[in-house]
This record gives sequence, structure tokens and C-alpha cells, in this order.
Amino acid sequence: MGLVIGLTGGIGSGKTAASDYFASLGITIVDADIAARLVVEKGKPALNAIAQHFGADLLTQNGELDRAKLRSIIFSSSDKKEWLEQLLHPLIRDEIQAQLNSSTSIYTVFVSPLLIETDQHLLTNRVLLIDAPEEQQVQRASQRDNNTADQVKKIMANQASRAIRQSNASDIIVNDSTLAQLHQKIDTLHLKYIALAKQS
Ligand code: ATP
Repeated sequence: MGLVIGLTGGIGSGKTAASDYFASLGITIVDADIAARLVVEKGKPALNAIAQHFGADLLTQNGELDRAKLRSIIFSSSDKKEWLEQLLHPLIRDEIQAQLNSSTSIYTVFVSPLLIETDQHLLTNRVLLIDAPEEQQVQRASQRDNNTADQVKKIMANQASRAIRQSNASDIIVNDSTLAQLHQKIDTLHLKYIALAKQS
């Protein structure tokens, strides 16, 4: 597994753009959102536990998790939300750890939007923040998802502030220019991470 770089940033900051580029450099990417979806796939024990606890109408006709229904259930009850988190968080962490363990690239990038908000940063050696001015976050995220600027701002209000992220980061890339500039900044860090990986 070796050196693990935790990559985080707010909505629309450019996490995916950055991790896609790390992948193109041959670096294995482990994605917290993908791990979170894997543990509740059809046939997984967690999905059965959820269906038993909240009722089988949480499953679609295909036996998959109806995410919208689950979201509305936990939105209305903090007890239910807590139950779900206690079930899923350890499973997600184990899934992420297993994927990190099986990585064979010189270092590994672990992407998580909630790296700082959750204890997922404990799985990493360093935190790389993809940082963008808030106006740019709003503009990029609303363009990409066809959201209104107000919807994006609401999501941002529920995420860690830019200042908190900055104070928890070991490295910061300011993604306020072109994609080519972003790639150039990553090229520099890539060399640094290779050197660190060789030391450790
Ligand atoms: P989320 O947390 O919402 O998934 P993210 O942090 O993964 O967002 P991206 O999806 O990488 O962000 O970027 C948001 C949008 O902005 C995308 O459409 C992406 O192509 C675009 N983008 C990112 N960085 C740049 C840049 N430097 N120049 C132009 N467009 C960019």
C-alpha cells in the first residue's frame, strides 16, 4: 500500500479533474463514494440489514437500494440516520482499507469529499486539498449538474469551510485557472510524492 494521499475539496473544487489526472500518471485511485456504494450493493449483508430495519419497500423491484427513499427516511430522523451510519461507516472504512492495501502503484490517492469531516483522514499519510474560490465552485458545480447557484451554495454551507480545510491540509492546489494549469501543479506534487514514497 505505501504512501496514501487523501485528496479532498468542496463541491465543484475539481477533485475529479485532479484524480483523473493522477490516474493518467499511473496512480491508483481509491474513491470513498464508490466504496460507499459498493457496501450496499444487491446481495451485500448491509443491504439486507437495511431492508430488515427499515422495511423491504426500501428496495427497488430489482432488489437494489432505493437511495431517494433512504435519504428521505434518514432526513426526517436523526436516530435513523445514526443507526445507518453506525452500520455503514465501519463497512465503508474496511472496504476503503482493503482497496488501499491492494494498491500497487508507487503511492495511492484516496479521494473523499468528507475526508476532513469524518475520520477517513486517519487512513492517509497526507491531505491534499483541491481549493477553489467559492464563486468558481458555484459556477463550475452549477454548470456541471444543472443546479441553481442557490442549490450549490446550500450544499457548500453544509460542508466544512474553506478555512477549516486549508488548516487541515498538508498540500494545497489552488484550482482557479485552466485545467492545463491544474495538471502542471499536479506534475510538481507527483514528483514530491514519488520522493516521499521512496523514503517511506
Ligand atoms: P463534486 O464534489 O461536486 O463531485 P469535484 O470536486 O469532483 O466536484 P469536478 O467534477 O472535478 O469537481 O469539477 C467540477 C466541474 O468543473 C467539472 O465539470 C470540471 O470539468 C470543471 N473544472 C474543474 N477544474 C477546472 C478548471 N481548472 N478549468 C475548467 N474547468 C474545470
